[in-house]
Amino acid sequence: MTKKVALNVKCPMCDTSLMDDKHLITGHPSIKLNIVTVRDRGTIRLCSVYGCYDHESDIEIVDGEIANFFCPHCNKDLKSNDECDSPDCNAPMIPLNIALGGKVYICSRSGCTMHFVAFEDLDTQIRKFYHEYGF
Ligand SMILES: [Zn+2]
Ligand SMILES: [Zn+2]
Repeated sequence: MTKKVALNVKCPMCDTSLMDDKHLITGHPSIKLNIVTVRDRGTIRLCSVYGCYDHESDIEIVDGEIANFFCPHCNKDLKSNDECDSPDCNAPMIPLNIALGGKVYICSRSGCTMHFVAFEDLDTQIRKFYHEYGF
């Protein structure tokens, strides 16, 4: 693997940081989102290291179900019109703004291993990196 990159992400709607400095996962500030499933609602924290699959949630998330993610600040639904490219998934992708530019997309289906980063750079074409991410 290449070196670990800890992402600093913001809400794509209100531009507020989603990083929680007080709750570390694998030694880095976690990405805090509100999560809603068919049964419950709660909080999920994702490891901010790109390619790391660690996450913690205070509600049960059943493998294979699609969850809805909301910004804890503006409470907007974060799902996009982009769908997961993983075979037989097609769940909505969740875009998060990277503070340094570009977006990271994570699949809203629990257990789906799709996520990618799209760097939007004026000088280069959009580059996409596919990694596993077990949200
Ligand atoms: Zn927001
Ligand atoms: Zn997926």
